[in-house]
Amino acid sequence: MDREEFRRFGHAFVDWVADYFENVGELPVRPAVSPGEIRAKLPKEAPRSGENMADIFNDFKEIILPGMTHWQHPGWFAYFPANNSPPSVLAEILTAGMGAQCMIWQTSPAAAELEEVVMEWLRRMLGLPEGMAGVIQDTASTATLCALLTAREKATGFAVNERGFRERLTVYASAETHSSADKAVKIAGYGIKQLRRVPTDKDFAMVPAQLERMIREDRERGLLPACVIATLGTTSSAAVDPLVPIGDICRRHGVWLHVDAAYGGSAGILEERRWIFNGVEAADSLVFNPHKWLLTNFDCSAYFVKDPGLLIRTFEIHPEYLKTGVDAEVKNYRDWGIQLGRRFRALKLWFVLRSYGVEGLKNVLREHLRLAQEFRGWVESDERFEVMAPVHFGLVCFRFNDGSAENELERINREIMTRVNDSGRAYLTHTSLGGRFCIRMSVGQRTTAEKHVREAWELVLQAAGSLAGKKAK
Ligand SMILES: *Cc1c(COP(=O)(O)O)cnc(C)c1O
Repeated sequence: MDREEFRRFGHAFVDWVADYFENVGELPVRPAVSPGEIRAKLPKEAPRSGENMADIFNDFKEIILPGMTHWQHPGWFAYFPANNSPPSVLAEILTAGMGAQCMIWQTSPAAAELEEVVMEWLRRMLGLPEGMAGVIQDTASTATLCALLTAREKATGFAVNERGFRERLTVYASAETHSSADKAVKIAGYGIKQLRRVPTDKDFAMVPAQLERMIREDRERGLLPACVIATLGTTSSAAVDPLVPIGDICRRHGVWLHVDAAYGGSAGILEERRWIFNGVEAADSLVFNPHKWLLTNFDCSAYFVKDPGLLIRTFEIHPEYLKTGVDAEVKNYRDWGIQLGRRFRALKLWFVLRSYGVEGLKNVLREHLRLAQEFRGWVESDERFEVMAPVHFGLVCFRFNDGSAENELERINREIMTRVNDSGRAYLTHTSLGGRFCIRMSVGQRTTAEKHVREAWELVLQAAGSLAGKKAK
């Protein structure tokens, strides 16, 4: 590709993305494709000689786009949001253009220093304790793995390899904890049977007294409790584990406290939601995802630690070829996590924080919270429906309930969800809470407005109306 062609297509692609932002709401949120359908349209081998960009772009539009699920659709109510935003996309263009490897200060000084600065901005925006230091990870899964590895090292006095630790160290997380905790427990070598599932209360939050009992029992059996994972905004229902009592238990037993705020953490920029962080002073580490609900393209996970020294001691390496004369004065983020090569992720975050400003971001989140409360109100005021969990953030878990048996309710609610999703106008997902099938309505896409939330509710009502008889509750 020559210079002129790059320019021409570069402009065309920016126009295409601008149009996409404007018109994505007209596309079906979820594509109507079956497994293998896209693959069948693609050649078995890479082309021998170069093809021209017009053909490649055309295939993108004809083959790829119709097979995409549109996460930036205003009718996106599935899972959790994974927002981008215009300033974030523009920054990604610059990042890709520079193609820098940001593994150590010397390989990209501005990237290292900007990362330090934007992490400090985020720390202040969320009101996290002074002294907590941040690093950008690819995902919350990776950050939680880093926490479990550091907790493992600390619990064994950084002598894992000499002393061994298998079947002695234990980890605690509520039954509602994200599956990335299970994965990290496996990868970090604790062994999955060392993961204790702490029971939850009626609001699906961890019961601290049960946590304490389990830690005591394990200690009496000669085990070494190493880490507690508390969640602010669980995946099923966005429940909030109470950090004050959990932190107190961790402190008394000398156990690492990792806080997974992957989804809910963004709401900490709002004074009125800051209560979720009550007790966070006790946390040894915390992760939240700007790539979910802070308008920053995937991937961008903010990982904060109380003592960077422990993190660095867990991960540091000093190969001769990476030694520089300034190592004592700078942050070399290769030692703050698993990977060596690192993308320049701080740039898009910097663009987003500056372009929106803290007030601008607060307005976006406040509107999502308001819309979720509206939706909750509609569900509550219709006697055929019920809200299934407290609404702390943008997520409303609800279900149709006309008093039928549980398995019949599951069938009806599944069918309601399928019909809404098949409309292409909205996308909802499901979960199970206390053994009951629920529909999850997660409000948080950047461009979602009241009319989209209302449309989703009307689709639910239509589906329910045509499915169920008039049987009273
Ligand atoms: C989304 C989410 C995760 C996983 O996040 P990734 O960045 O995709 O790894 C973990 N925990 C919670 C609570 C989440 O909401």
